[in-house]
Amino acid sequence: MIAISTALIHQVCSPSVARALRPRCVAAVPSRNLSTSISPSARPSPEAPKVLIGLSDQELQQLALDFGQEKYRGKQLHQLIYKRKVKEVEEFTNLPLKFRTDLQEAGWRVGRSPVYQSVTAADGTVKLLLKLDDNRLIETVGIPVEDKNNKGSVRLTACISSQVGCPLRCSFCATGKGGFSRNLQRHEIVEQVFAIEDIFNHRVTNVVFMGMGEPMLNMKSVLEAHRCLNKDVQIGQRMITISTVGVPNTIQRLASHKLQSTLAVSLHAPNQKLRETIVPSAKAYPLEALMKDCRDYFLQTSRRVSFEYALLAGVNDAVEHAVELAKLLHEWGGGYHVNLIPFNPIEGSEYQRPYKKAVMAFVAALESHKITVSVRQTRGLDANAACGQLRNQFQKNPLLVDSDISQPEAAEAAEAAEAAEAVAC
Ligand code: SF4
Repeated sequence: MIAISTALIHQVCSPSVARALRPRCVAAVPSRNLSTSISPSARPSPEAPKVLIGLSDQELQQLALDFGQEKYRGKQLHQLIYKRKVKEVEEFTNLPLKFRTDLQEAGWRVGRSPVYQSVTAADGTVKLLLKLDDNRLIETVGIPVEDKNNKGSVRLTACISSQVGCPLRCSFCATGKGGFSRNLQRHEIVEQVFAIEDIFNHRVTNVVFMGMGEPMLNMKSVLEAHRCLNKDVQIGQRMITISTVGVPNTIQRLASHKLQSTLAVSLHAPNQKLRETIVPSAKAYPLEALMKDCRDYFLQTSRRVSFEYALLAGVNDAVEHAVELAKLLHEWGGGYHVNLIPFNPIEGSEYQRPYKKAVMAFVAALESHKITVSVRQTRGLDANAACGQLRNQFQKNPLLVDSDISQPEAAEAAEAAEAAEAVAC
């Protein structure tokens, strides 16, 4: 298990977080001043949270109209949420008091979650645990890298989660070992980027959907969050990467949206037999079908697919595996890139990190077969950086206790887990 220095762990209790921790319940009584009846768009169904993060410019303008305000007040809301990153409706001081009060009384909130824990690694990587409304914890990681092409400027990557836990149970993954609870809603995805920006006091430049969860099992919210991050938060599509371990029929669906974002496919093995031992869900999605979908994704979007390959000592890191991988990639055409990830050891794992010599031999074998390859720099090893490790320290089981989960939600979560299990078998 990776040792984690207690000196590096600190409860974040800045005034802003303390404010965020204050109960946000606002009595849902009819407003004294509400002169206009609230239209359905301003009064969402019980399932749709009354949360401002995630709403588009147009939706915010409509919301303003629904509250009897001028349309431009919606534009102001947009500025407050996405440019000034204001956390509470009561802090929207450049809006009329009546509008703020009406929003609060109708139950609207910005939708920011408090930081539960923050761990900083020696290399500057920060891992946060955000505490959601239902007390579940999710991980999000901020990775600062100095931009070599632009001295003095920093590239800040947010590695964000799409689910609470993950049902796919890849054998090397701490998140998979922790079980699955539920999908994240779009605002819970977007707010992770804001949380990273707060901690670093710096704009997030890149986003990778490589945190907890399988994004393709929550495609609706992931696409909505992608739209918001691109259009509202103004992060270029090319700066966003969506990763998947492979869920049947979803890569074609994603390709049909013709996003200019990178698709990263977690391959981890050059053949079906070995892949099934590492990624149980591969049983439902033969390697050939996966590779065909990746080729079609490239043809439809002209975006190169990145193949993620976790190197596990003595399992998939031999030169023969590299040669087999090169052949597989050549068979399915160009537009590919391989990203090698020397395994980050996790508690209770049977896998070991490969020696540097083995990693270099793997790289050389791929390069000699004309495959472009990079080795992911290990960041934040002392910050329990492997996905799911930190959350597991505080919440082994993301479902918490029975009383924490309402019956319909429990049924929904069980259904989602079942659907994913079906993928896995
Ligand atoms: S590697 Fe990704 S898909 Fe696999 S269990 Fe972990 S979070 Fe889920």
